[in-house]
Amino acid sequence: MSFLDTTIARTLPLVPKPIVGQVSKRYIAGAAVEDALRVGSSLNSKGILATLDVLGEHIHHASEAEAAVEQYVQTLHAISQRGLQANVSVKPTAIGLRLDPELCFRGMLQIADTAARYGNFVRIDMEDSACTEDTIALFLRVQERHPNVGIAIQAYMRRTRDDVRRLAKTRTNVRLCKGIYNEPRAIAFKDRDIIRRNFALALDDLFAAGCYVGIATHDEHVVWDALRLIEKHGLTREQYEFQMLLGVDEQLRQILVDAGHRLRVYVPFGRSWYAYSLRRLRENPKIGGYIVKSMFHRR
Ligand SMILES: Cc1cc2nc3c(=O)[nH]c(=O)nc-3n(C[C@H](O)[C@H](O)[C@H](O)COP(=O)(O)OP(=O)(O)OC[C@H]3O[C@@H](n4cnc5c(N)ncnc54)[C@H](O)[C@@H]3O)c2cc1C
Repeated sequence: MSFLDTTIARTLPLVPKPIVGQVSKRYIAGAAVEDALRVGSSLNSKGILATLDVLGEHIHHASEAEAAVEQYVQTLHAISQRGLQANVSVKPTAIGLRLDPELCFRGMLQIADTAARYGNFVRIDMEDSACTEDTIALFLRVQERHPNVGIAIQAYMRRTRDDVRRLAKTRTNVRLCKGIYNEPRAIAFKDRDIIRRNFALALDDLFAAGCYVGIATHDEHVVWDALRLIEKHGLTREQYEFQMLLGVDEQLRQILVDAGHRLRVYVPFGRSWYAYSLRRLRENPKIGGYIVKSMFHRR
């Protein structure tokens, strides 16, 4: 983390809310489900799939977890009504993982039940390392009842290849990403090249086990490795997808779409967009750098 990144992260919370809103607009669809549906529909018209994420903040009461579950249920209804090519991504802490794992399990089941009714799919996001084991345990329990659920795995974690072996046994649908939280070196790789190489190794293992993988990256080195592995395993276009965040490297996104790869964009939305933006900045000051860069970059 550079001095500049840290300084930006510390001072951005002092920036007036409308300005944070202006720059966040590129990365966040808006406050309402209607905003996410509009962005999802626009992506679909360009041949791009979406995954909708209801932004949540740290919660303190079961009622907040239940409200988040209800928002996901409503979002799944709306996706179906509009005929959107979109699924949902859920952060376990937003539906109570840290409050009460049983409450979280019941909420995740309710979301997965609703998705199953519409023939849709639920992705469980991976959060910081304090949640890794509980998130995998939650996923495995939900997966026993619902095949329409997948999980995200982070290539920067030292434990990742073991987790991949575990998940490969049930041919899990995995989103593979580098990982976004600031983790201690004892549990996560810090070196950029090692993270890339670990990403490629994990992807190779997942493909070898016949898993469907969402390759979530904007790093062209990683994309290049992934393309080689897709070729090596002789995969068809239905056996994997690329995934990118809303507003990030739309040129690379278009290159992949034009080459005929399935591509899904992660579309965050919700009333907590402001608190969420600040929290992500604190978790990973590099994002502050991206936001500041985007302020000077004419689109
Ligand atoms: C669809 C999707 C889902 C994800 N889900 C999770 C998850 O569940 N858990 C988790 O820990 N992490 C998640 N992430 C984040 C991921 O772990 C990385 O932190 C993030 O994608 C940056 O890594 P990169 O592979 O793009 O490579 P980097 O080398 O970090 O980025 C490559 C380039 O992409 C651009 N870029 C990357 N991220 C951003 C950004 N946020 N804003 C603006 N520009 C950016 C920069 O120009 C950068 O140079 C997800 C990422 C994606 C794309």
